[in-house]
Amino acid sequence: MSESKKTILVTGAGGFIGGHMVKHLLSKGEYLIRAVDIKNIDEWHQKFDNAENISLDLSLLDSCQKACNGVSDVFNFACDMGGMGFIERFKAKCMLSVLINTHLLMAAKEAGVCRYFYASSACVYAQNKQCTTQLSAGLKEEDAYPAMPEDGYGWEKLFSERMCRHFREDFGLETRIARYHNIYGPNGTWCGGREKAPAAMCRKVISAQKTGGNKMNIWGDGEQTRSFTYIDDCIDGTLTLMYSDVTEPLNIGSSEMVTINHLARLCEGFAGIELELNHLLDKPLGVRGRSSNNEKVKESLNWLPGISLAEGMKKTYEWIKEEMKNSDFQEDPED
Ligand code: NAD
Repeated sequence: MSESKKTILVTGAGGFIGGHMVKHLLSKGEYLIRAVDIKNIDEWHQKFDNAENISLDLSLLDSCQKACNGVSDVFNFACDMGGMGFIERFKAKCMLSVLINTHLLMAAKEAGVCRYFYASSACVYAQNKQCTTQLSAGLKEEDAYPAMPEDGYGWEKLFSERMCRHFREDFGLETRIARYHNIYGPNGTWCGGREKAPAAMCRKVISAQKTGGNKMNIWGDGEQTRSFTYIDDCIDGTLTLMYSDVTEPLNIGSSEMVTINHLARLCEGFAGIELELNHLLDKPLGVRGRSSNNEKVKESLNWLPGISLAEGMKKTYEWIKEEMKNSDFQEDPED
């Protein structure tokens, strides 16, 4: 590898956010990028030949040591996760991602890494702060404590945040932490059980249009609220935070709060069809409502997301439509 450019490690590079981060960093032409994921390289969402692409299981310390060797900055996006259906069903699996962040921090410290980014989540926020009466202001960073996060996935995220903090305080590794709020966009998972609501809504509408169906399933009554953050905003906010001096966790998320029914109607609008919404009340729902409060991120980084839900969803919809053209995917009537 060349001496003049610094090497940046992106983990989870075969996944959604990691793939976009690799693409963005490569486009700058200023860095050497090491891209690592547990999946075989031919299964990555995005793969770039001008990055050093490696398949490694980063839950193992020696893999983390290989990945961190000669690296100056780390973006850790590696995690065993999925949408609400996945995180409610596989809590132990979600918690085992603690091995990835722990071993990666240890290896980063050993390798003399300068900066380390950890992708946390809105699932760290205390469940009692997520009720509908408090939604108008969104979730503030201080709402994570006293701790009562989402079972499984949220506890792992909160613990790993804490681990980053202590590696910074005790060992001088400059850690930065973002709490992401429902990131969506092209080049992510859109079927198979790990997909999130925006991709699922696009897929269901496109499937109905393809097959001439007249209804679509929605998990719950569809009145649960969320905010959704387009991937370009996520990358921009992440880089702003990573190279800032803000050491506390910050929300990276949209404050444009909508119901899941609204999200479905938005997708129907792209297709120019109207479907009967069939509400499945026995499906996993997560919290009743959640959105990002952006006062702190605005104040400390002078940063806010800029892409509207309609604009971001349209791009996502078009990408999934293209993917589905070459796929024999069939909608599960029970899902
Ligand atoms: P993703 O599932 O698309 O990507 C994660 C990648 O990590 C996958 O490609 C997976 O193969 C890889 N991975 C899993 N175990 C690994 C291991 N042992 N070694 C190496 N790689 C491994 O997820 P994403 O949406 O890109 O999320 C990236 C990060 O952001 C995760 O930490 C996630 O918890 C966090 N986050 C995402 C969202 C969101 O809405 N997408 C919201 C909050 C937090």
